[in-house]
Amino acid sequence: MDINRTNSSETMDAPVQIVTLPDGRRVKKLTDRSLVRRERSNARSYVQPFFLLLVVWIGIDFYRFVSGLENGVAMQRPPGVEGFLPISALMSFRYFILTGIVNHVHPSGFFIFVAVLLISTFMKKGFCSWICPVGYISESLYQFGAKVVGRNFNLPRWIDIPLRSLKYFLLAFFLLAVSMMSADELGSFIRSDYNKAADIKMYLFFAHISTFSLIVIGALIFLSLFYKNFWCRYACPYGALLGITSLVSPMKIRRVESNCIDCGKCATACPSALPVDRLEAVNSVECTACYSCVEACPVRNTLNMSVTSGREGISQRNYALLLIGVYFGIVGVAVLAGLWQNSISPAEYLALFRNIGAINHGF
Ligand code: SF4
Ligand code: SF4
Repeated sequence: MDINRTNSSETMDAPVQIVTLPDGRRVKKLTDRSLVRRERSNARSYVQPFFLLLVVWIGIDFYRFVSGLENGVAMQRPPGVEGFLPISALMSFRYFILTGIVNHVHPSGFFIFVAVLLISTFMKKGFCSWICPVGYISESLYQFGAKVVGRNFNLPRWIDIPLRSLKYFLLAFFLLAVSMMSADELGSFIRSDYNKAADIKMYLFFAHISTFSLIVIGALIFLSLFYKNFWCRYACPYGALLGITSLVSPMKIRRVESNCIDCGKCATACPSALPVDRLEAVNSVECTACYSCVEACPVRNTLNMSVTSGREGISQRNYALLLIGVYFGIVGVAVLAGLWQNSISPAEYLALFRNIGAINHGF
């Protein structure tokens, strides 16, 4: 192909030059071949299954715990199950802000919440695409769907934008409800039987799931096959909260304009449909730090996760180490401080379980 150099403003030693194709189109071309990116990283493909296995292990352990209660025996309960009580954790967090006290009912839920908030505040919404099992399952579903039908779909903007606001309405509802409670009210709720048995009630909800809930979950799974991260993008209030806190994250995806050849591969790869190829830095609430754009970029040191706009980025492997370090660092602090396990005695768990049908939130 005959390619003519133009009298562009680019200097001859710039890594990228604008060339005119025979059909008249002007495109950017990489002139420095040493910048062609060959190395690839797949750290996320190890971290996501690791956390999924951790959740499955916690689930099996919790199943044993509840089975024990059914047989009149209170065994050791896995504290990590409290990671699935985000509203209780939100209340614990506000209670801590107001009183400085880490509650003894669901302390591990509080520490997991703090770890996740810290990650989103400094490392974007990495929780969603690296740790959250729902995020991993959603991703696997749309990848499977793309294999079956050949592609994924995007909702038209006029539905996409209002639907995306749904998760913020849900978040606003929870934030408003919790912010209106005084420290005494929060303390009363935290110490209530309903909160103490919230994990057991959650288990029983899924163990005896209603037809309606099954239909809703089935519909979400079906939609997730065709639309990328359907639940996360439209309905998850936890993701909405992390998206907002991630706006202040110093770490973000940055693009080096002078190296960019405008191939658009980053934008095509982005599961959040962000126009990465047109941004200097990705400041969106939807960015989950998944590194898909970085891995898709064919030019070395052009698209990076970084703290400043310098050219050195944080590799996917180092990001993974940092993320795991923060998460388990917080868990480790809680364990060492003797605050990881709750203070509900075996006798109290047995009494709660005997009465479980009569326990409600009382609102
Ligand atoms: S592909 Fe890039 S911009 Fe898109 S969500 Fe992942 S890290 Fe963020
Ligand atoms: S993948 Fe994106 S950042 Fe990388 S060269 Fe192409 S358009 Fe530029």
